Amino acid sequence: MPDTPKSEFWRDLKPIARVFQPDAPPEVYIADAPIDDDRYYVPFSETVSSRPLWISPATNRWCDILMAKSAGLVNRHYHPHEVLAYTISGKWGYLEHDWTATSGDFVYESPGEGHTLVAYEHEDPMRAIFIVTGPLIWLDENGGSEDFFDVHHYIAMCKEHYERVGLGAASVEALFR
Ligand code: FE
Repeated sequence: MPDTPKSEFWRDLKPIARVFQPDAPPEVYIADAPIDDDRYYVPFSETVSSRPLWISPATNRWCDILMAKSAGLVNRHYHPHEVLAYTISGKWGYLEHDWTATSGDFVYESPGEGHTLVAYEHEDPMRAIFIVTGPLIWLDENGGSEDFFDVHHYIAMCKEHYERVGLGAASVEALFR
């Protein structure tokens, strides 16, 4: 039950009795997703980190807050699947596109896009919600594939960091759906 309503017109409505189908896992609720606490952000590159919000091992997808406190780089890579992003704060973009994203900006990237993510110096850190379907294919200078990164790498990376900072690997597994 969320907060008790007062004068809201819907205050006498009853919640649905059967919320979940028998095989449906519970929702994920995370308060203060773009939290201002470095422990929650897992280093992804030397300058950009990620707070996991939801992880789907079965579909190779995850949702995170991507964060850079100053100039940042996620070097060139290719996405065989879609990417969606919503910018909370700061300023970022891709070397390959002519737009620059700031607070409130939404991006959809079609399957089949290669790019180089950069975060700018800004009074606020870059914080953006990303919904990614893996894998990312890391590219060399000539655009050839070099290595890959998928949900399983993401999970291992998050667990290692969360163990190290005292949040515990179990709090990463708690995000699996
Ligand atoms: Fe990307």
